[in-house]
Amino acid sequence: MARILIVEDESRIASFLEKGLKAQGYSTFVVDSGRMAASVARDGNFDLMILDLGLPDIDGLEALQDIRRHGERLPVIILTARPDATVAGFNTGADDYVTKPFRLDELVARIRARLRTRSEDAAGLTVGQISLDVRTRRATVDGQEMELTAREFAMLETFMRHPDQVLSREQLLSHVWGYDFDPGSNVVEVYVRALRKKLGDQVVDTVRGMGYRMPQG
Ligand code: CA
Repeated sequence: MARILIVEDESRIASFLEKGLKAQGYSTFVVDSGRMAASVARDGNFDLMILDLGLPDIDGLEALQDIRRHGERLPVIILTARPDATVAGFNTGADDYVTKPFRLDELVARIRARLRTRSEDAAGLTVGQISLDVRTRRATVDGQEMELTAREFAMLETFMRHPDQVLSREQLLSHVWGYDFDPGSNVVEVYVRALRKKLGDQVVDTVRGMGYRMPQG
């Protein structure tokens, strides 16, 4: 049974979520503050987190930053009444978002999709000739194992999770280097060059003025 952490300070919404998700067969645990969310999520006991942004102590995004900084990678779906918060949410490491007011069936569909992606992770990621085993941190091209540094692996993983999608420098920086990155640094360029050198020039395309994209195959 998938375990879902619900972070919501409005008790009416929290109990609606709890009842709805239990009825779908999920086990749930509710916390009503950002600090509590950060500390509970880091225990690693949950398969997914639903995160409200407007919380009484620290903002949901701040809690999420804290969780990601500690290396906890559980899927996070943001619940927000502020559509403008979604870009910040993605940059902070959210996987998806649902805007309030929301329908339970929409949220459940997104939860299912996220949990499915997570179980696919266990099996590994494949794009074109490249395969990653996220658990053993092994990368192979055409069945041949490649030596990658931890950062190169993290960057390749980020591209492979978003095939055919243009990722900006900022997105790559926040995914691979976390939140304390220097926006003026050229590490993204340096690592894209390193990946091309090891995996071939075609592994990542430059999309002028926008960022980089890994073609589907
Ligand atoms: Ca709230």
